[in-house]
Amino acid sequence: MMEHQPPTGQPDCDVVVVGSGFAGIYALWQARQRGLSVRGFERGSDVGGTWYWNAYPGARCDVESYNYAYFFSDDIVRDWNWSDACAGQAEIQRYLRFVAERCEVVKDIAFNTQVLSARFEEDTGLWSIRTSTGETVRCRYAVLAIGALSDPKAPDIPGVADFAGEAYFTSSWPKHGTVDLHGKRVGVIGTGSSGVQVVPEIAKVAAEVYVFQRTANYVTPTRAGPMDPKLVAALREDPQAVRRAFRETYGGHVPQGMGDERFLELDAAGRERALQEAWDGNYIGLAFRDAYLPEANAAISDFIRGQMQAQVTDPWTAEHLVPWDHPYGGKRPCQSDVYLQTFNQPHVRLIALPETPIEQIVPEGIRTTAETIPLDVIVYATGFDAISGPVFAIDIAGIGGCSMKDAWADGPANYLGTMVHGFPNLFLPSSAMSPSVLSNMATLAEQQVDFIFDTVGWLDAHGRPRLQPSPASQEHWREETLRFAQRRPGALTTKSWYSGANIPGKARVFMVYCGGFKRYHETCYRELENGFPGYELMASPQPGRGIQAHGG
Ligand code: NAP
Repeated sequence: MMEHQPPTGQPDCDVVVVGSGFAGIYALWQARQRGLSVRGFERGSDVGGTWYWNAYPGARCDVESYNYAYFFSDDIVRDWNWSDACAGQAEIQRYLRFVAERCEVVKDIAFNTQVLSARFEEDTGLWSIRTSTGETVRCRYAVLAIGALSDPKAPDIPGVADFAGEAYFTSSWPKHGTVDLHGKRVGVIGTGSSGVQVVPEIAKVAAEVYVFQRTANYVTPTRAGPMDPKLVAALREDPQAVRRAFRETYGGHVPQGMGDERFLELDAAGRERALQEAWDGNYIGLAFRDAYLPEANAAISDFIRGQMQAQVTDPWTAEHLVPWDHPYGGKRPCQSDVYLQTFNQPHVRLIALPETPIEQIVPEGIRTTAETIPLDVIVYATGFDAISGPVFAIDIAGIGGCSMKDAWADGPANYLGTMVHGFPNLFLPSSAMSPSVLSNMATLAEQQVDFIFDTVGWLDAHGRPRLQPSPASQEHWREETLRFAQRRPGALTTKSWYSGANIPGKARVFMVYCGGFKRYHETCYRELENGFPGYELMASPQPGRGIQAHGG
């Protein structure tokens, strides 16, 4: 494609949106609603983001469909029918396609197009976005809606390329049923949420299944099942009230069956009763208001371990499937009604890597310190270079040519999870130091995109200055993130992707803001209402439309 060069200082469009998952689709719509010209780029061949790529068998959301959806449009809430209280991947992707079509933003997206770089032009104040198709687009505002879990972790195991059989990643599973595992010997590496979901599906068809587990995870029952028609009717009555209510909560949602007791206020019999009720009602993770306190958390963790062990018949396997090394919530807990029982089948075997580590992947299979296991297929459920990985995958340069990689060399730093000092008018929804995966990502996408476009509206109304957070605000937000993480059991002591510990050499910074959705939302809008005191505003380069610049 021929490169288009607009006159100096003139943008090709007001906004570029990268990515077309929950945040990207809504950002494109918001831009159009506000009369801004917009271009979208998506590396996949369809919308969906995370829900486009993670098309592995068994993939489903463990946040309820009542909550894990858009609420900005009453029509969309009323016209879409979820088939399950916890929808599967294909249904969520269909939903996102439905929303993108309804919002008429599909036409704005260039698919199969990766954004390679984003460079800030200091003389014009524009962002110059370069794509894999050779196009360069200059815009006033760049919204990188690239997701938190979109950069697969490269397997850090010797011999990966030597394997003679088929290899698949859960994070980029081939589409349209092209993978046939019938009668095959399959090894699955990884037992996080993806591994826990894919293993039972593979076990339905494969001849032999070997699950290579480095760290066991908590696995609790799902809340899947038919939608409750009364609840659906209630949501549809006043979607905007639901939307407002979500923003008043800690997690950005109102899950069904949430307990309101305080564990430490119950006597021994009351605790036992409440734990069992929560387990049977599929809301153990949400059962107690004080579940974050160490004593309550320890008791809940022990209870879950017992329930997990009871589902597995072989004592060695039961013992090894239970997480003894971290408290409940230290890592992202998994949900499944069938994972643990899968190990009761004769053709499914757990390989406990702490006892017999993988030495090497060899042409015929996987060699551990104890044996070589012959395999036809290896499935990597090994996770993501989370949060900063997708940001580093784009060559981003801000003021003075400073790269984002340098700015984040010691770990992500930003203010309110969306903007980075040195990178004016660049927005990063779903990124570091936002409620992120500890909240409902669908609600977060709407909230952040609203905040971003309310910010853009403010900037446009004030002569389009450049906006960036002050270093002091970033430092304050880092301290806030740490302060709340310290209150969360296991957050700072467990090796998890929350803190970059799953990637060798990655800076260890706890990357999720645990102060709760409500506090996060209020802090964002306090900034906007007060004219961005935590930011620096630099005067616009356009003569006659200037603003009094101020420091934050
Ligand atoms: P993950 O939670 O990071 O799990 C990766 C797994 O691979 C871990 O068990 C890890 O072991 C293992 N692993 C990584 N490298 C390894 C190696 N070299 N050798 C052996 N084992 C290795 O990734 P994920 O399961 O894809 O989930 C990521 C996140 O996506 C979740 O936490 C969740 O937020 C989201 N997700 C949500 C759902 C849902 O809603 N139901 C489903 C899927 C994913 P260690 O633990 O020892 O590092």
